This record gives sequence, C-alpha cells and structure tokens, in this order.
Amino acid sequence: MNVKKLFRDDLKTFESYNAKRIDSRIKLHANESPFSVSDELLSEIKEEIVKCSFNRYPDAMSEDLCKKFAEYAGVDYKSVIAGNGSDELIQIIVSTFLDRNDKILLLNPEFSMYENYAAISSANIVKFDTDEEFTFDPQVIIDKVNSEGIKLFFISNPNNPTGKAYDRNTILKLVKNCNSIVVVDEAYGAFYGESVIKDIDDYENLIVLKTCSKIGGASIRLGFLTAGKVILDEIKKVKPPYNVSTTTEIIGKVLLSNKSEIEEKVKYIISERERVYGEFLKIPYIEKVYKSSANFILFKTKRAHEIYEKLLEDGVLVRDFGSGVLKDCLRITIGKEEENNYMLELLKKYNG
Ligand code: PMP
Repeated sequence: MNVKKLFRDDLKTFESYNAKRIDSRIKLHANESPFSVSDELLSEIKEEIVKCSFNRYPDAMSEDLCKKFAEYAGVDYKSVIAGNGSDELIQIIVSTFLDRNDKILLLNPEFSMYENYAAISSANIVKFDTDEEFTFDPQVIIDKVNSEGIKLFFISNPNNPTGKAYDRNTILKLVKNCNSIVVVDEAYGAFYGESVIKDIDDYENLIVLKTCSKIGGASIRLGFLTAGKVILDEIKKVKPPYNVSTTTEIIGKVLLSNKSEIEEKVKYIISERERVYGEFLKIPYIEKVYKSSANFILFKTKRAHEIYEKLLEDGVLVRDFGSGVLKDCLRITIGKEEENNYMLELLKKYNG
C-alpha cells in the first residue's frame, strides 16, 4: 500500500512551518524576550510546581489562569479563553468560523500562520497588499470585506513582520463597519501601548488575541483570546478540553501576577528599540529602516541574504524573508544592550 494515496490532495504542495532549529549564540530571529523570569519568580514557580497533582488533568477551562489574565489586562475573566500559545487560538478561530471556501481577508505582509491555518481549512484566502509604508485606507478594506462577503479578517497590531502599528481609531473603524469577524492580534501590544481589548463588550464581531511569548514566557506556550459572550460560546464548541497544561497554568499565573517586572523589561526593550533604530539609520548599505512599535525592527538592504549569512557565521541569528514583498528585508529582534551592540558592531564591520 502506498500510504501517500491516503493524503489530502490540497496538502501535497504544502510546506511545513519553517521553525527548524539553528544554533547560534545570540538569537534575534523569533521576537522572543531576551529576559527569562527573575530568580524571585523562579522560586515562586518552584514552590507552586511541587504542589501540582501530576496524575490529574488540568482544569479544562483554565479558570484561575483566565482570572489572572483578566486582572492583568483589565477585562472580565468570563470573556477570556486560554490557549496553548496564541497559535492554537488562531487555529481554533479559523476552525470555528471558516468552512470550505469561506473567505478570509489578510493583509500582505502579515503573520504567516493565519494563512497556513486558513489553507488547511480549505478556506478562500483573499489578500490585501498594504502600501510601501505598510499602511492602508480603512474604508477600502471595509468596502472589500462587505462587497466580497469576507467572514473573517485577521490583523496583527502591531504587525509582524513589519512592526507597523495601526491606531485605535483605525482598528475600531474596521471593527464597527466590517460585516465580518475581526480578529485583532495584539501579540506585540505591550511594545505599542494602544489596545482594543476593553472594547470587546461593545462589538459583537471583535476578538482580541494576546500572548505571553513576547513578554518572557515563550517556553510555556500560553496565549489568550478575549471576546464577547456570543462569539466565545461558539469558540468553546471547538476548543479542545485540557489544552493548557497544569504546569503552564502555574507558571503563567506567577508570570502575570508580576506586572511590574514585565513592564520594566518592556520599557527597556522599547528604549533599546529606539536606540537600535537610530543606529540602523547610520549604516550606509541599509536602504530603509521601518519604524517599529514592536520588539523587532525590519530593514531593507540589497545585501539582505549576504548580511544574514555573515551574521550567522558570527553567531547572530536574525530573520531573512527571502522572497515576496519582503524580499531584501531582514527582521531583527531587540535583545539585551550587549547583544544589540555586538550585532550593530558586526553590521558596521560588514560595511567594508
Ligand atoms: N501572533 C503573532 C502576530 C505572532 O508574531 C506570533 C508569534 N510569532 C504569534 C501570534 C504566535 O504566538 P504564540 O507564541 O503565542 O503562539
């Protein structure tokens, strides 16, 4: 028997997500926080972990964890669902609302997993190219959504991979006027400041996503979805039970109880981001540096791939986009001051 005969036709040309492990001394490729938890938090985590009943399933709805997040974000815990990373929540949203050939609208460029999951659901993917500054006229998007019968519209804000942020008024105009579900993915929201998370009760079609991955908790895989009751009840039909492990729940609760520690590190990263931005502007072979509201910076240089390889050889891993609209672009995550300095020194050295 040829087992491949049993595979889906539409997945034949599909590529798996490229998250292969490349070892390097300094990791500036995945938009993680350069800071792990403090020793103080680590002690708290250890103390809590030993109390865990390892033989028992976790709480199916992660209620205590959702309460902690609700406190952290200033929303009602009944509006929150926890996920095994926001990646899982993206997949759950897509499975909940998109039937075969239903339409999803995505900006281009955009975080690639929305398209991946939509393609796996055999949805009809409609793309909207943003302009050279990665902006758009919200009315054009609204007209497109409503005239083309789009059901779901994902937007990362700030955008990954560009770092571009769209202000609250723009986002709310989209939410108010699009006859679709609008998912605002605020994975990088901490580095921007503006949020629409408190607007979920006012708009029945709004979903807001958050993650712990960018604020020091990427290893535990923890994301949150917030929405009004009508949408949430529908999503609960699709969410797997026990999707967040007890250990993640324990660590997540400790992490989120210490907002000041998170905020202090976010402040540091924002200040480093602005400094690194200024330094990038001085490098002659960098043709364009994009202003960022996230924890990374995108820049354009004809030498992108060569610079990527050189950095890797010198122990620094960054993200190279290779082809498409971001051809000639590199995305560099903001690290600790010494990591950023080392990366900047190398970039300056490559000037010749
Ligand atoms: N949304 C965006 C915009 C992202 O960039 C990422 C991760 N790179 C995710 C969601 C997924 O985050 P998580 O680690 O919570 O699955």
